[in-house]
Amino acid sequence: MSTAQVFGYAIVGLGTQIVEVEATISNGLPQLDLVGISDRRSKQIRAKVRSAIVQSGYKMPDRRIIVNLAPSDIDKEHAGFDLPVALSILLASHQIDRSRFLNIHAMGDLSLTGWIKPAPGQALAVISSQGRGETLVVGDGVNWGALIDTPCLITATTLSDFKSDLRPKVEAAKVSPCSPARATELIDDIKGQSGAKRALAIAALGRHHLLLSGPPGSGKTMLARRLIGLLEPLNREQVIELNCIASLQGTNHFRLNLPRPFREVHHSTSAAALIGGGNPPKPGEITKAHHGILFLDELPEFSHQVLNQLRQPMESGTIEIHRAHHHLQYPAQFQLVAAMNPCPCGWLGSARPCSCLGDAISRYQRKVSGPIKDRIDLQVSVPAVKPEHLLEDFKKLPVTEPEGQTEHERLRSTLERARRFRDHRQSLDDRPLPQQLQSEALAFMTDAANRLQLSGRSIQKVVSIGRTIADLGLARHVTPQHLIEALSLRPN
Ligand SMILES: [Zn+2]
Repeated sequence: MSTAQVFGYAIVGLGTQIVEVEATISNGLPQLDLVGISDRRSKQIRAKVRSAIVQSGYKMPDRRIIVNLAPSDIDKEHAGFDLPVALSILLASHQIDRSRFLNIHAMGDLSLTGWIKPAPGQALAVISSQGRGETLVVGDGVNWGALIDTPCLITATTLSDFKSDLRPKVEAAKVSPCSPARATELIDDIKGQSGAKRALAIAALGRHHLLLSGPPGSGKTMLARRLIGLLEPLNREQVIELNCIASLQGTNHFRLNLPRPFREVHHSTSAAALIGGGNPPKPGEITKAHHGILFLDELPEFSHQVLNQLRQPMESGTIEIHRAHHHLQYPAQFQLVAAMNPCPCGWLGSARPCSCLGDAISRYQRKVSGPIKDRIDLQVSVPAVKPEHLLEDFKKLPVTEPEGQTEHERLRSTLERARRFRDHRQSLDDRPLPQQLQSEALAFMTDAANRLQLSGRSIQKVVSIGRTIADLGLARHVTPQHLIEALSLRPN
């Protein structure tokens, strides 16, 4: 009897768990059995491994082969186990160098002819193997970009490469700094809308959830898209996380200069597509929008069932996906930006007459479920732009500020200053926000809370938005004026 062991990776949420892949070859009728994996996966892996071994010029041992994947109680439905299974068999049958490849870590899909293809989620294995100092063999043809900073990765193109001297990739040792992608959608493209732009700046600084309400064509989607360019650049850890999420979707090109994601979700999207799941499990839109924006246009058209799925991730920044025997977690720190018309016909409050009858307007507004409205921090009206204003603005083109800056650049510098101010302020006083209120602001807030019958959650929210507004103006203390503006932005 001959045995050999290599290690594979099970993907669990946005992490990995080591899987021991042990092959035993003994006397008996020629047969290949896989234990510790579902029958469906076992059938696929056996067919590919058999063909790849033979096509790569090795011999499939004509004895009894059992490959055990342990532990057996973790999900192994995703791809990537072909390569460790094939390597364990080749090692147990002494067809490749045991002194170099025994106990090695590997992940990859095999083609029938022995090509090693990158498996979805491979970036997660690479990241976690680096943290633990493991030497990992993966398929070639992946642009690892800046994800790798230790020379412990061996890449192979085909299974026959293991006959030769595979060496770790050393070229990857340099880490370039994380440079943000340049925004291409600028705030200057939007004419007028000073109120909405102000709300956008507040939302960008405080990462507050925002609802834009206005008639069709008023530029709600344009505004939502431009919020991305106003957000803080991603740091290296966030970029790596986003690359790992992309890897789960099968991307094999990793880069540092990522923009924050902007995911526009249609109201016909199912709850499963929104939050993730399936077999093997895949991240949903809220995870794809991690560190970025989840944009829901025509908010009242979304079903309550779909919107209610957002409650837990909006609170915790993660989503738990429950499966038959276990559950997994994906990150979901998205900023929600939603847009809606003020009424079913869309023209309520604008120059065009609203044609909605009876209680159609209140029914339409009630369609947005209470719990979601409760979690939206800011609501702003985006009025239709009058044609004469549009024409006036066009006459003034190109829009540049006196110092030669565009409106977008000016707003970005204001936000950068405000972020530095906020970070410094927080380093001086880390008490909970309501405790930081000075007597005048506290008296104002108490009075407002009584008059408007604000819930505890609403008070927290108004104070937090007031704090963001104060930071935007580089003000050390929150004043009643800041709170008045925060109250005016409360969702109705
Ligand atoms: Zn109407």
